[in-house]
Amino acid sequence: MIDHDGEASPCPYCGALQDGAAGGLEPPAPGDLSVCCECSALSVFTGRGLERRRASGAEELEHTAEVEHVRHLIRHVRER
Ligand SMILES: [Zn+2]
Repeated sequence: MIDHDGEASPCPYCGALQDGAAGGLEPPAPGDLSVCCECSALSVFTGRGLERRRASGAEELEHTAEVEHVRHLIRHVRER
């Protein structure tokens, strides 16, 4: 997993400051998904910060396994 420093943006659900990203080879781009390290809520990078995610049912199914994997990693890190 690769860590990327980024512009700090508050989680649109809990307000926790998100100032980095991990998981992809490239830094996050507008439209990429984010899982909050504090509340595990799903949001989307916009290029101007994070926004609450509005997803269609098909999109929700497409990302379920990936999102659950990231949430599992967050729980694992918290338990350390
Ligand atoms: Zn949050």
